[in-house]
Amino acid sequence: MRFDTKLIHAAQPPDPLTGAVNVPIYLSSTFAQDAPNRNKGYVYSRSANPTRTVLESALAALEEGSVGLAFSSGLGAMTTLLAAVPSGARVVADTDLYGGSWRLLEHHRRTYGVRTDYVDFTDLAAVRAAVGASPAPTLVYGESPTNPLLRVVDLAALAGIAHSRRAAFVVDNTFATPALQRPLPLGADVVLHSTTKYLGGHSDVIGGALVVRAKARGERLRWLQNALGAVPSPFDSFLVLRGLHTLGVRMRAHAEGALAVADALAGSRKVVRVLYPGLDSHPQHALAARQMSGYGGMLSVDLRGGMPGVRRFLRSLRVFTLAESLGGVESLVDHPASMTHASVPRAEREAHGVTDGLVRLSCGIEDPADLAEDVTTALRRI
Ligand SMILES: *Cc1c(COP(=O)(O)O)cnc(C)c1O
Repeated sequence: MRFDTKLIHAAQPPDPLTGAVNVPIYLSSTFAQDAPNRNKGYVYSRSANPTRTVLESALAALEEGSVGLAFSSGLGAMTTLLAAVPSGARVVADTDLYGGSWRLLEHHRRTYGVRTDYVDFTDLAAVRAAVGASPAPTLVYGESPTNPLLRVVDLAALAGIAHSRRAAFVVDNTFATPALQRPLPLGADVVLHSTTKYLGGHSDVIGGALVVRAKARGERLRWLQNALGAVPSPFDSFLVLRGLHTLGVRMRAHAEGALAVADALAGSRKVVRVLYPGLDSHPQHALAARQMSGYGGMLSVDLRGGMPGVRRFLRSLRVFTLAESLGGVESLVDHPASMTHASVPRAEREAHGVTDGLVRLSCGIEDPADLAEDVTTALRRI
């Protein structure tokens, strides 16, 4: 099956009991047993729930992994992943990360003595040096495109570097989704998702996922999923599944809107730079063209005029709503320095490009002309 067909059919046969074309929402915390330890595969819904199982199998098929695991949030997925990293171990991570991911890595440094070294993953020589240092890292952790700077990193090359020291390469694929990029066949070991974003797609659910390439690693993480308990409810699992069905058409519409907005912003003298992998001017445009099958719905823009300019721009938008999060059908705008990345200290933020003038746009699936018009009008008000 091709990808858009898989979105609807992979691991989702009609319900064997009733023929329902959608998996029922199994609102049951526990399951009757025929005799002690004789059951139909379900015992207790923290360990496994039939609605969640369908979601997990679908995610594994879409990312081309062997084990899929669903969580109550993206950070719940990351917490479970990091619980497998022993104290004293080392992580190498990209400098440009979702703020909450950075905060969690720093918590593990303070509390469990897991040190994270941050390097720019677009600089492969720097990554090689960091991965080569002692002790060998347990995890190499990054995103592509990154949040909020939309850098694209070479996933196959990074997997090779990680594996040269037997480290696991983990890719947060939230921005690209498997519709545009599949890190596991490129060599990554684990894919992480905030399903809150594009996979859910309608801004109505918080969720996360891990998809694992090797079965043994997947089963160890499944053990931790049950032991730690950050699992999604059956209803939330259903919402993410329902979102998945339209992921293909939504990602094409998101990208169409983002390109229209990027073009509208790019010509303005009130703009320092537009960060969108689909523009020829993007530093990793060629890599993005090779590694992805589309450029996605996210872009960032560096506005002239600092905070006052940013405030006027945000106040003037009519279609874009000022809110955290991304990946829903409605367009959202975020000011990373004061919102999603406020947990990162100013000096660190600014050193790698998250300045006060930076605005992040999540282009929804409204008419691209309305999105372009909205930013053009708001620019005029600066
Ligand atoms: C939102 C987000 C997360 C965290 O996911 P939650 O579902 O909010 O816990 C992780 N990574 C990226 C890239 C995100 O955008």
